[in-house]
Amino acid sequence: MTATILDGTAIADRIRTHIAADAEQFKAWHGYAPGLGAVLAGDNAASQMYVRMKRRACDQTGITSVAHIVSGDTSQAELEQIVQSLNDDPKVHGILVQLPLPSHLDEERVLRLVSLDKDVDGFHPVNIGLLAMKGREPTFTPATPTGCMVLLEASGAKIEGANAVVIGRSNIVGLPVALMLMKANATVTVCHSRTHDLPDVVRHADIVIAAIGRPEYVKGDWIKPGAVIIDVGTNRVDDPSAERGFRWVGDVEFDTAKEVAGAITKVPGGVGPMTITMLLQNTVKAARRIAGT
Ligand code: NAP
Repeated sequence: MTATILDGTAIADRIRTHIAADAEQFKAWHGYAPGLGAVLAGDNAASQMYVRMKRRACDQTGITSVAHIVSGDTSQAELEQIVQSLNDDPKVHGILVQLPLPSHLDEERVLRLVSLDKDVDGFHPVNIGLLAMKGREPTFTPATPTGCMVLLEASGAKIEGANAVVIGRSNIVGLPVALMLMKANATVTVCHSRTHDLPDVVRHADIVIAAIGRPEYVKGDWIKPGAVIIDVGTNRVDDPSAERGFRWVGDVEFDTAKEVAGAITKVPGGVGPMTITMLLQNTVKAARRIAGT
């Protein structure tokens, strides 16, 4: 069997066309565009790149963006003051605090300060709490896990009743995607660094979400034939044969996994483009909620 490739770039492009139309309509109604405020502390190269990519995607879909970039030794008070100013700015509808923050800063206090109406990253403890509770719905869900769910739906996989294995339990990917799968009535197993016999757990999975951060860790012979594989991992590995001397790989060994899986995402071109798209979608949603339209 050779798996169907779930093309995140193509799916994201289609969704972005709708987002751009919605943003244009919002602007026609209100005279200003939906707006995203980004906060970046420090000079982490990956974080800088993510903020640049998110702002470029805003430009392309008619969302305005402002960035507050401060040095890595910024104080907690300064960062909180920036978040507060974005909360108070009527032209900013969504606030993005790029994580991780430098280690001397209290991330939870910063995220807690983000207005619930503008929590387009879905990381406010109240939104995560509502995601975890039966019968409740958060206003916003985090971008990467939401992107995984959209890709799963695009695969045509039946989520209800499926055995879903999530590898990784981070606050930004593993935990929220496990909660979203549970809300969608999957039977969810969450694995982490202390899980015994991971290959055996994965072999029972109809759906695998890999969010570990280890290059090509999950092998093809761990995978149940026909399973749907969503690879969140984004790992840079040296490759002297590549033009830039490196390439990006996922947490799943793509070449062996694609021979067994029913459907699989690629890295790059899978979850990555979906993440940014879900952030844009949440920003337009936030603008409409705030404007009451
Ligand atoms: P993280 O915070 O480092 O969490 C990694 C998780 O994997 C932890 O729960 C850890 O377990 C678990 N883990 C580590 N080694 C393991 C092993 N040998 N077996 C089983 N579980 C293991 O990482 P993250 O922020 O969730 O990111 C995960 C990956 O996704 C990274 O490659 C990141 O770059 C990528 N990512 C991609 C996007 C995107 O848009 N494409 C967005 C976010 C993240 P413990 O909890 O026990 O430590």
